[in-house]
Parts: sequence; C-alpha cells; structure tokens
Amino acid sequence: MSVNKKSWSRRDFLKTVGAAGMGTLFTASDFQKAVSAATNSMIGTMPLRPFGKTGVSVPILGFGGSQNLESKQRLLRQAVKLGVTYWDTAETYAGGGSEEAMGKYFETYPGDRKKIFLVTKSHAASASGLSDSLDGSLERLGISYIDLYLVHGIGSPSEMDDEIRVWSEKKKAEGKIQFIGFSAHNNMDACMMGAAKLGWIDGIMVTYNYRLMHTDPMKRAVEACVKAGIGLTAMKTQAGWSWGYVGKRSKTAAQLIEGISRKGFTEEQAKLKAVWENPHIASICSEMTNFKILASNVAAARNQTRLSLKDNSLLNRYAHETASQYCAGCAYICESVLEEDLPVSDTLRFLMYARCYGEPERAKACFRGIPPHVRKQMVQADYTAAETACPQGIPIGRLMKEAESELA
Ligand code: SF4
Repeated sequence: MSVNKKSWSRRDFLKTVGAAGMGTLFTASDFQKAVSAATNSMIGTMPLRPFGKTGVSVPILGFGGSQNLESKQRLLRQAVKLGVTYWDTAETYAGGGSEEAMGKYFETYPGDRKKIFLVTKSHAASASGLSDSLDGSLERLGISYIDLYLVHGIGSPSEMDDEIRVWSEKKKAEGKIQFIGFSAHNNMDACMMGAAKLGWIDGIMVTYNYRLMHTDPMKRAVEACVKAGIGLTAMKTQAGWSWGYVGKRSKTAAQLIEGISRKGFTEEQAKLKAVWENPHIASICSEMTNFKILASNVAAARNQTRLSLKDNSLLNRYAHETASQYCAGCAYICESVLEEDLPVSDTLRFLMYARCYGEPERAKACFRGIPPHVRKQMVQADYTAAETACPQGIPIGRLMKEAESELA
C-alpha cells in the first residue's frame, strides 16, 4: 500500500500521551504504617547536584507526576518532607489533573512553592501555542512561574527552532519561566548533541538508564551537554521491557540480585544507583505512585553505599543479554527505512506501559491518540527492513500487530 509520508502530525497524537493515570494501592492505615517504617529506617539527607549552568542545585531524586495525583496530597507532602523537591508534570498528564493536583497542594502549602524546582511541559510547536499552554499550566498550578519549561517529547533537535528561542527569552523576561529545554524519549543522543550546539538550552529530560548509559553515542551526548552547561534529568531509569521478559530467570540476573541484596538493595534501587554513578546526571525523574516506592527510592538516594564494580559489570552483562526485549528509542534507525512515517518507537513504549508498568489504561490512551489511518498502515506495513536495521533485534512487525490488538 502506497502512503504519503508526513500525512499526519506526530504532535497531534503525542498530545494524548500521559492523559491517563493510575490510582494508589495504599489505604490510610497502610500509608501511616509505611511512613513510620520508612522514616525510621532512613539515614542521611537527600544529596543535591548542580543543574547545569543554571546556578540551581536540585535533589538527585525527582517526583514524576504523569499519574493522577488528585487523591495523593499526602504523598506530595511526604515527598517534600523527604527532600524530593524536584517535581515534574505536564499539561497533558491525567488530562491536566496532575497540574491541578499540584496546584491544590500549593494552595494548601503556599510556603512550599519556593522549595520546589517545578518542571512542566507543552506539546505546542509554535510561539502562540506555547504561550497558551504556559498560561494554562500556570492557571492549573495556581502559581506565577515555572522553574523549567520543556517542549514535550521532541524527536529531532530541529524542533527547538529560533521561534522557540525568541519565545523563551520573552517569557524569561516576563518572569513566567526561569529556564527552557525539552524532553525526549526518541533519538535522545541526537537531540542532546543538537541542543549542545544551540547555546540556549538550559535543561533536558531524557530516557537514560543502565542499558543506554554505556553506549558511545550517549556518552558523547552527555559530554557535549556537560560542556554546554545543560542540566540533565534521567527518566525511564528502570528500562522497562516491551515484550517477552525472561531476564529474571537468567543466571546473570540471579548473580546480580544476590550481590545487590547482600548490600540491602532491591533490583529497582540498584538501577537508580547505576544512573547516579554518573555525576553529570543532576536528577532522576521517578514515577513514585505510592509511599512504599517513594520511601524505597528516597532510601536509595540517601544511602551513600555505591554499587561495586562487579555489580555494575553484572548489570551491564544483564543489559546485553536482555537487549532484544528493550526498545532503545533509536527511532531514526527503524523508522527511516520504512516507506510510511510510522511511530514504531512510541508504540513500543506504549506496550511497555501496558506490559511492564502494568498501566494498560495509560497505554491505551496513548495508543488511541495515533490517528486511525496511521494505525491501519502500521498493521499492514512490511517491517523487514526495520527489523534488519534494529540494533536490538526487536521483532517489530509482530509487536506492531500485537499493539493494535491489545491497545486499540
Ligand atoms: S525498534 Fe529497534 S531501531 Fe527502532 S527504536 Fe526500538 S531499538 Fe531502535
């Protein structure tokens, strides 16, 4: 089937990403018990790191707000008390509900606004669209300025054009934003390299984890951003799989878990620590949906015990052994060899939300944002060339069909 490229706008469907959230599993009494247990077991204070050349220091652990926070005011309160004062949200998260919930928090605790390094994002691609988005976010949050304003989910550095630079300078002068940047789930290294050349990007949030951090393109991209004074936030640090996860049954995984357990860490904590090993990552944005996860991540951040060389080497080997279950977000490789403009990498991310994160509703909301005619092309397309090009060896064709039957 012959289809024109660029027959649809990727930004149109990306606007729906994050529109759904998940509920807390904790009851009131569970929450109080967890607060006491975790607070008693915690040692140290939350480490801070400089955020690029901004002059601001941020906690190494940030609170990811792509969830529905409406009933989680106490979770936000505990996050502040535990030093998790980097908060991330977006205009689309929970259909605006994430920003509204944070706004409700600031209304209750106005004195906490200045403690928080607040990040929000917009899918707009023009100055007027960004202005509308920013004003909407400020209204929902009930505040007068955003610390770091990000263009949400770019796939190419060319999306950060001069119009956005001029717009950001104007909004900085008006006092509505302090810093400007972008987030990227796809083509992260190319976006970072491009940003480093621009000279006006203050901060970037990118997919970065134990699987990606050792690749040469990512190492070069981080180095370039450091030289350019760009603050870096890592997201998707658990490196969730999209299909066929068997890693926990492997010999390497068993050795890895045994080693980190002896130090008192969980697998999830070890993956956070692997990212913190890079001192140039200012913060990790972590989706902490209940107090148990918050307490566990805070404990990992505060605890100064580092992973051993053997732990890191096992984690690296484990990453290689399970590479074919993980989409590395290098969309330019597989998508550029397809006849049609199809969102392979994004679709694999949505499958990850459903299968690995256990968030099928969020996955479906994201997937259904892809225009129906594009989804039809996705099912009919021939992915042979994309599968040959994919460095992770992912069965793309099979997964595109599974996404349509699972998430449509
Ligand atoms: S499917 Fe393969 S080539 Fe495409 S983004 Fe994922 S890892 Fe990269």
